[in-house]
Amino acid sequence: IRFPSHNTDTMTTSAESFSQAQNYIPGGVNSPVRAFKGVGGTPIFFERAAGPHVYDVEGKRYVDYVGSWGPMVLGHAHPEVIRAVQETAAKGLSFGAPTQIETAMARKIFELVPSMALVRMVSSGTEATMSAIRLARGYTGQDKIVKFEGCYHGHSDSLLVKAGSGALTLGVPSSPGVPASLAEHTLTLPYNNIAAVRDCFDRLGDHIACVIVEPVAGNMNCVPPIPGFLQALREECDKHDAVLIFDEVMTGFRVALGGAQALYGVTPDLTTLGKVIGGGMPVGAFGGKRAVMEKLAPLGPVYQAGTLSGNPVAMAAGLKTLELISVPGFYDQLADTCRRLCEGLEACAAAAGVPFTTTRVGGMFGLYFTDQAEITSFDEVLACDAERFKAFFHAMLEEGVYLAPSAYEAGFVSAAHDEAALEYTFHAAEKAFRRI
Ligand code: PLP
Repeated sequence: IRFPSHNTDTMTTSAESFSQAQNYIPGGVNSPVRAFKGVGGTPIFFERAAGPHVYDVEGKRYVDYVGSWGPMVLGHAHPEVIRAVQETAAKGLSFGAPTQIETAMARKIFELVPSMALVRMVSSGTEATMSAIRLARGYTGQDKIVKFEGCYHGHSDSLLVKAGSGALTLGVPSSPGVPASLAEHTLTLPYNNIAAVRDCFDRLGDHIACVIVEPVAGNMNCVPPIPGFLQALREECDKHDAVLIFDEVMTGFRVALGGAQALYGVTPDLTTLGKVIGGGMPVGAFGGKRAVMEKLAPLGPVYQAGTLSGNPVAMAAGLKTLELISVPGFYDQLADTCRRLCEGLEACAAAAGVPFTTTRVGGMFGLYFTDQAEITSFDEVLACDAERFKAFFHAMLEEGVYLAPSAYEAGFVSAAHDEAALEYTFHAAEKAFRRI
């Protein structure tokens, strides 16, 4: 057998890097969306990043609207975050024993998201949601969970489930490897459909352990909740003693300092966090009401654990990030940047005569090739012109703007996206919209 060289010096281009990666990594990537299947072409391999920019292995610079899928709310390689990581790393990478910085982190989370009275740190968003669901099941003694079409909560078995045919039929696995006997406990309802929620609870409410929802859906592009939707979830969960879980892995510290729950004034029983909370390191967390969280081991019988949970280097990056985003006015500025971006892109599209609209909440946004004024459901997202998005994505890429490589993902701005980055984006967009 002849093995390709391990020397990265030979991987001079993204295409060459991708070709070599495929020899050793399934599909050449460690998370499927990175493979550009949603837009076609070859993924860009990155080498470094700073502020609003990422640089590929060929030295080309892009204004970045992916931000590592959300975490980089301060921009890339913020000097204070990097320093915190370096100083902490120098003292040892992991102890597998309690450290004071974990308490500092939990206290900071509680200060910013007061519904999270007790917090358990984990290492990814998937772990956070998986653990929150186990806890909700353990707390209520019920097995059924409710989730929504178009929402993504990571890849644990109970959540890789789609609706069966017909309303309220048993859920079916959306991936081979997920047992049908487990999937049948997951009920999938249409997002923003209050009547479907009420009907589901009327019929099955007493068997439901929890509802898990993205309070702003960011995994089917960016779909804000309609007025009353989150409140209806709260009401039904209260009525039936079910646990309401807000999956704020994406929206936490992204749409507002206190997350979507602060923005919309609805308090969940449990919250899951990820992305921003790690400042770019692998971190997740779940937490909430004392009565529920106290059921978790070692206090209670619901088991959950992690060798690297609360890792000091990850905590240092996350805590420094949380400190820096807590300064007054941070979210006003972030939301203003997002507004200017969306309005600017809409103006470029209008000038080129391309039917196009945007959605945005705080520092996250959605781009839609449609002549529909409002997007509130997964079906409406699916009805948009995905082919036109692909063409736009590649035209922007060529011009040096990196958008999410899928028509079904939210985009993100950071505090580092300054006037120059926006102007650069608009120049690129003028050309891109004309070309498509
Ligand atoms: N929940 C939401 C809302 C997410 O957006 C994601 C990831 O994109 C997850 C959970 C899973 O997080 P992770 O990829 O860190 O496992």
